[in-house]
Amino acid sequence: MATATLSLVTDCLFCNIAAKEIPAEIVLETDRALAFRDINPQAPTHVLVIPKAHHENAAALAAADDGLADDLLQACHAVAVLEGVAESGYRVVLNTGLGAGQTVFHVHAHVLGGRSLLWPPG
Ligand code: 5GP
Repeated sequence: MATATLSLVTDCLFCNIAAKEIPAEIVLETDRALAFRDINPQAPTHVLVIPKAHHENAAALAAADDGLADDLLQACHAVAVLEGVAESGYRVVLNTGLGAGQTVFHVHAHVLGGRSLLWPPG
């Protein structure tokens, strides 16, 4: 029986997606960012945008102070344009810390759109 082998680069799920060791449906790729569809979408458009470099959360990304946070936001907008939700409106969410619902500790922006989004979020 054939078995698939993965050579995981780290124990970080999103580092492995960035390294193409774990498959994902990629929407956009730049030198420093990658956007791929969330495996459990919460809206018609639900794309995760990550820096390829590992930073645990939004605070760590901001502290890195190397322009990467700007790149991430620009990639989020580019995804919204590609997905056709830039005009109707979209939401960018960075869950930061366990208490906010962060479950993967490689900073990622959720880009959500394609339906009406309630405020405040749950
Ligand atoms: P968080 O809760 O950390 O803000 O968001 C993590 C997101 O990653 C969740 O929306 C979850 O559905 C998504 N996710 C978890 N594992 C995978 C995976 O293996 N592939 C993809 N594409 N998304 C994942």
